[in-house]
Amino acid sequence: MPFDSAYPPLSIPDVDLFSFLFDRNDREFPDDHVILVDVTTRTQHTYRHICETAEKFGKGLKSHWNWQKGDVMAIFSPNSAEIASATFGTQWAGGVVCPFNNQYTTTELASQLKSSQSKGLLTHVTCLQVAREAARLAGLPWSRIIVVGEQDPEGRCRHYSSLFDDSTAIKKASIDPENDLSFLVYSSGTTGLPKGVMLSHKNIVANVLQVTIPDLGNVNWQRDQYLGFLPMYHIYGEFCIAVSVLAPVYRGLTMHIMQKFDLDCLCQVIQESKIAIVYVVPPVVLLLAKHPVVDKYDLSSLRMLHSSAAPLTDDLVGMIHKRLKVPIKQGYGMSEASPGIAGQPWNDWNKTIGSAGTLAPSMSMKLVNNAGTEVPIGEEGEIWIKGPNIFKGYFQNPEATAEAVDADGWYRTGDIGYVDKNHNIYITDRVKELIKYNGFQVAPAQLEGILLAHPAVNDVAVVGLSSPAKATELPRAYIVPAQGFKGDDEKLAREISDWLDRRVAPYKRLRGGIKFIEVIPKSAAGKVLRRLLVEQAKKEESQT
Ligand code: AMP
Repeated sequence: MPFDSAYPPLSIPDVDLFSFLFDRNDREFPDDHVILVDVTTRTQHTYRHICETAEKFGKGLKSHWNWQKGDVMAIFSPNSAEIASATFGTQWAGGVVCPFNNQYTTTELASQLKSSQSKGLLTHVTCLQVAREAARLAGLPWSRIIVVGEQDPEGRCRHYSSLFDDSTAIKKASIDPENDLSFLVYSSGTTGLPKGVMLSHKNIVANVLQVTIPDLGNVNWQRDQYLGFLPMYHIYGEFCIAVSVLAPVYRGLTMHIMQKFDLDCLCQVIQESKIAIVYVVPPVVLLLAKHPVVDKYDLSSLRMLHSSAAPLTDDLVGMIHKRLKVPIKQGYGMSEASPGIAGQPWNDWNKTIGSAGTLAPSMSMKLVNNAGTEVPIGEEGEIWIKGPNIFKGYFQNPEATAEAVDADGWYRTGDIGYVDKNHNIYITDRVKELIKYNGFQVAPAQLEGILLAHPAVNDVAVVGLSSPAKATELPRAYIVPAQGFKGDDEKLAREISDWLDRRVAPYKRLRGGIKFIEVIPKSAAGKVLRRLLVEQAKKEESQT
């Protein structure tokens, strides 16, 4: 039987995201409450400032760029507090925000700009070279590139603030919260290439409530200092727009935003700003548990770490608790769920170690076996979920949408798990192709497509190799060499690997190595039998 969240169902207001956050009479904190502290620029952004600059930017988009409802704004930048105002401003003007990984190569960004049909590109001086070249390839005029943070030193691209307009004659776009999109984020889902995940205003409004309403223990929203280093382009980091930006704006908490992850800097900010809560991913938990630099700092202000985006092992929980005496709780989410699905209640963190928590309010779940039959409590199955936060479908891809979501609205996550009698969720495996390196998505189909273009590659399959030592998965390629190439050649493996490195963002590199193989195992229908290769990889690792 499917089961529902134990929390009372939510009533989700029928409003767009901007109105939900900024036109409200239930706010419990003042206008000048500091919401974002940009650790890099040392600037503070109050609730009022974010709201006003967002509105000015939204008006500017309409007056200078003739921005229309549904126009997509790509974001290609390291973290910056100004991204919050640009995001809300784009949505004020009826636009859709589409964040991309700022490590993308020119070709990767150009292809995503085209696929998302972006009408504007918000970037940062550190990314300008790639942004300009990608925009040229995608046919987006340079006049549609704007920067946050520092000005473009060459003066070729405008600062986003140069668009600001405060004319009272320009009105906010009229939005249908149920059907109009607020975000378009990319995910490979259960199979194939990355696809645009369409998230409506209602999806995001629902998820902000779903993750901020459940019992969160002794959180003091307006007094506790939070730290977010997770990239804003990732949905969990987007939850950095959702956890690090949306939740702070909604609840009035103060989020310190780091441009990118750096352990020394992280510890320094925790010490100096008396941070109480940090959002982390398992590889960072590993560093906090083991790296000697941590001992240089006083981290006693910490009251809770919150890990998500990848599995957190019981060992890691034990290690971090032993060293820092700080509890750590886990959450479970994904792009297609806007993203929060489940979280461990604060006070239960040590009663259910290893669990990804209980279902968020207004959600239902069932576990289904290979034959499509539901399994009873305690047995493993694929996790299917339903709720107001489940995405609207994949952008311009009805086939992939129909494969992922059934007629009754159940989304097949591609994750395997079980629940105990109290409905605590335990994620044990993944049937989808996806590989997660340090919490970032690596789509095997994308790497395989690129590798096939190498003259020495006749056939290839990429799988994830689990690395407990690094608390992550590492992409490994199994390659059938083309005629005339020797399969036991280490030099060839290095050459192919270097060749790939020049074509993909650093997090997609084949850190799990290349293995030559005579034939890629496939089903009668020609589908790669990845499971066999994952098992082979495990065996190979145990023999080294
Ligand atoms: P993304 O859409 O990039 O957030 O990736 C979502 C995927 O990350 C999920 O479908 C899971 O496979 C994985 N994931 C997220 N949170 C957890 C967790 N707590 N434990 C295990 N896997 C997780």
